[in-house]
Amino acid sequence: VVMGRAFVYVVLGGGVAAGYAALEFVKRGVSSGELCIISDEPFAPYERPALSKGYLLPEAPARLPSFHTCVGAHEERLTPKWYKEHGIELVLGTRVKSADVRRKTLLTATGETISYKFLIIATGARALKLEEFGVNGSDAENVCYLRDLADANRIVDVIHSSTGGNAVIIGGGYIGMECAASLVISKINVTMVFPEAHCMPRLFTPKIAAYYEEYYMAKGVTFIKGTVLSSFDIDFNGKVTAVNLRDGARLPADMVIVGIGIRPNTSLFEGQLTLEKGGIKVNGRMQTSNNSVYAVGDVAAFPVKLFGETRRLEHVDSARKSARHAVSAIMEPEKTGEFDYLPFFYSRVFALSWQFYGDNAGEAVHFGDFSGSKFGAFWVSKGHLVGSFLEGGTKEEYEAIAKATRLKPAIEDAAELERLGVDFALSV
Ligand code: FAD
Repeated sequence: VVMGRAFVYVVLGGGVAAGYAALEFVKRGVSSGELCIISDEPFAPYERPALSKGYLLPEAPARLPSFHTCVGAHEERLTPKWYKEHGIELVLGTRVKSADVRRKTLLTATGETISYKFLIIATGARALKLEEFGVNGSDAENVCYLRDLADANRIVDVIHSSTGGNAVIIGGGYIGMECAASLVISKINVTMVFPEAHCMPRLFTPKIAAYYEEYYMAKGVTFIKGTVLSSFDIDFNGKVTAVNLRDGARLPADMVIVGIGIRPNTSLFEGQLTLEKGGIKVNGRMQTSNNSVYAVGDVAAFPVKLFGETRRLEHVDSARKSARHAVSAIMEPEKTGEFDYLPFFYSRVFALSWQFYGDNAGEAVHFGDFSGSKFGAFWVSKGHLVGSFLEGGTKEEYEAIAKATRLKPAIEDAAELERLGVDFALSV
């Protein structure tokens, strides 16, 4: 018989949101023994974006403990020792296999029952597999995904055995783009394959995408667009040797990285909590359809006040802030209002770096020097500025576009906006 344990607060999942929740719990005075974090990963919470950036680089790669949360927000770095010192129970390498929100219990794969007074669901998301699109081969030893540190370690190993060889990257989102940059720096020939007309299709306009694609091509990356993978050639060792595309092309490959999207980890709560937009629906206090249960980060669908609609965001800043908001709502309910979040997303590759705020809805108005290193776009919807993108900005300029986007100023003259560019944001 395995004993059960009881906590006041339990965070299910040990990723980005969990780390920021822990920091906020401590700031608000959680007592020793009250908080437990359960994660199937064997590491204390870390800044996941590092995995596709510093972690894959050949020179001075980022390694734990350097990127434990909350260094990404310039806050304290929470090592396993920090959790211990604050009396926080870190249950690592342990998968929760079922949840009962009526009884307020979680059952772990090791057979332990953990009960809570308040639960924060921070289970994040998992990478979509090729099999879900009818292609086999995910179990080949040189086919890689990238969601957690174990995946990143595998990629590092495969990179080492592929130096000077060929990589095929499936998917033109940021995982594909960031991995491509690291592979190029590791002296691997990269071909990117995706079905859309340009990279980063969910965010970039064709004009913005063209800039990055040209930059990548100058670094030696080949783009094959408008087609998809149909099968792999696999040798007797279980290694992929080539990628076959639906348009008939065959690409020799020493390694493959697949970045084709994610699915939120909601399965433990299906039938128990209300879902929306593929995630767990919460109110402006990050509270689910059960009063004792909160959801944050990639798994949560929350009301974005600024847009007047429910969204599920898959970005690190949203994970950090939604987690802190949930803790505030739990520990100081009277003092906590509705979450008022400005969506923010960024990426860094090679010498490039961009930030995006708000919503890419309506018409895009491009500005700046697309043949140089500073340019961007504003999105104007129903006569108001709703989204801003900037490459190569200064700290002050990024702050200005964030502030301008939050204010949603009326735009009467798109040509004037185009002419002013960042100066428009600086003047708001
Ligand atoms: P996660 O950080 O995924 O944490 C979820 C945790 O829950 C994991 O540890 C998981 O193992 C655990 N878990 C799940 N189910 C169970 C279970 N049943 N039992 C126990 N544990 C469980 N965003 C940006 O804005 N900019 C970027 O540049 C950027 N780069 C990224 C690069 C990579 C490689 C990846 C993968 C993501 C990147 N993101 C980026 C997205 C960002 O990392 C996520 O939005 C963020 O991690 C979400 O935090 P989370 O806590 O909700 O989920």
